[in-house]
Amino acid sequence: MTKAAELVPSLQHIQHENGWISREDMIDLSRRLDVPLYHVYGVVTFYPHFRTRPPPKHVIHVCDDLNCRLKHGGNLVKQAEDLARGRSDVEVKPCSCLGQCDRAPAAMIDDWPYAPDSPQALLSLIRDCISEIPVPKTPTIGMKGPWKSDPYPSPEQHYSALKALVTGEAEQQEDRNSEAMKKVLESGLRGMGGAAFPVGRKWEGVLNPRAQAAPARYVVCNGDESEVGTFKDREILRNLPHLVIEGMAIAGAIANATRGYLYVRHEYVEQIDILNAAIARAYQIGALGKDIFGSGKSFDLTLFVSPGGYIQGEGSALMEAIEGKRGQPRNGTEDFGPVARATVRGLFGMPTILNNVESFVYVPAILMNGAQWFKELGVAGNPGLKWVGIGGDVARPQVLEVPHGMTFKEALDLCGGMRDGKKLKAIMPSGPSFGFLPPEYLDARMEFPNKENFGMLAKAGASIGSAAVVFLNEDRDLVDAALSCTRFYRNESCGKCVPCRVGSQKMVDIIEGVLEGTARNDDVEQVERLSRTLYLTSICGLGQVVPKPFESVVKYWGDDPRIARARERTVRLTVNGSGSLSR
Ligand code: SF4
Repeated sequence: MTKAAELVPSLQHIQHENGWISREDMIDLSRRLDVPLYHVYGVVTFYPHFRTRPPPKHVIHVCDDLNCRLKHGGNLVKQAEDLARGRSDVEVKPCSCLGQCDRAPAAMIDDWPYAPDSPQALLSLIRDCISEIPVPKTPTIGMKGPWKSDPYPSPEQHYSALKALVTGEAEQQEDRNSEAMKKVLESGLRGMGGAAFPVGRKWEGVLNPRAQAAPARYVVCNGDESEVGTFKDREILRNLPHLVIEGMAIAGAIANATRGYLYVRHEYVEQIDILNAAIARAYQIGALGKDIFGSGKSFDLTLFVSPGGYIQGEGSALMEAIEGKRGQPRNGTEDFGPVARATVRGLFGMPTILNNVESFVYVPAILMNGAQWFKELGVAGNPGLKWVGIGGDVARPQVLEVPHGMTFKEALDLCGGMRDGKKLKAIMPSGPSFGFLPPEYLDARMEFPNKENFGMLAKAGASIGSAAVVFLNEDRDLVDAALSCTRFYRNESCGKCVPCRVGSQKMVDIIEGVLEGTARNDDVEQVERLSRTLYLTSICGLGQVVPKPFESVVKYWGDDPRIARARERTVRLTVNGSGSLSR
């Protein structure tokens, strides 16, 4: 761990105290942490949450991404701006998905999330704030248990799996670790952040002799879900924080890692309080700290609050942020074969177990109830459970804890079907990263692709991924929806690689051209070439999926009159008076 690792928390502290970060603050911090000033400045200006000027009296950030736009029709930002007209002490800005899709539309008003389920109600809160009428910081509405993921009937039993693992005869510790590893491996648990890498194999990577000989090992939990439509981890963190903490501590005990970081997005303000309380309790009862349950084993856990940005959900970018750097994905030039990259060179260059919130949450129950119990919870060969966020035009948008492999149709039924009896037009199976699918895919299973079980979703080149499912009704304009998703990627591109930085803007231009009637056939044709280029040349997954939303619309709804018209419009080159070619 380096002194630079104190940089982000120190900057957050300064901003919390003063409202912003001045040049003098940066110079002072640079001296105190012995970090070059250019580095401090680079970090401050990279993250959207940091301010280098005093903030206005009120800061209102209105979500303008897909689920909110479906509710407010794309007008809410403008309406809020109109309310604030003439008020230089009020800042109104559109922002990316806030993870409140089930109660959309959403906004952050003076750093508190509001999602009152109707555009009128949200506008009324914004009006109150601007009119200096106090807006109460009420808790957002969440889900209620019981949860199959939780093996504990009462709080007194929390951390029993960890306790059983680390206490007992010291000479049998190896056997207990091996038994726990065997259960995790045999359970078939896969990375639930989207990549679906087998969790047990990831952990094995930190158990090999080379990783064990390293000066330190870390456990990192990725709780930075920020993809459009993703909000399942929000409910896990709200309801089952003890299982996430316990899952991390178990990973630490097995892998001889003595420190963990739980990375959470800053907009989840209630979850941050809940996690702080849960971590404090875990220390208090001896489940964390220098001598876990008197076993002599140590595991310290730090809650790391993100300074903002969707790209921090990418594992290596997230680790860069914890290390006090600009949170850009690392170059993936080294081939580590079947072992996940972070397990070899992760946080602070050390072997690291990096898993998503949902991956850790199942671990205590797997240890308590066994691998077979977990496997049998799923359907159609998919092991275990799946938490999914269902949003869009359904009667009751919500987070579901369901058997892994349930069909989209069954999930839609659990949400009361389509709102107002409208027909289904499209399914977004996993945020915008696999685009939109037509209604025939209702029978597809919400699953990850695998060799034994190459289902309908995999055949469409998709996956349940980050489990951000959005259903769109017959009235929706999918070209406009694709534009909204592509703008999200454009806005959230970290800018490290040129193809992503330029290509994402190019994609936005093409879709805007289709909507405005200025696009031509070669623009539509270019989507495929752009897609190939971005796939081959982007450092991380964001760049690779930029074209997916519009590509899927062209593939399945290519008869949309605007796309058809663009296809008919070809480039005509003429020789002008000066002898050169013009369009
Ligand atoms: Fe950044 Fe995009 Fe490159 Fe990813 S693909 S590293 S988001 S520029």
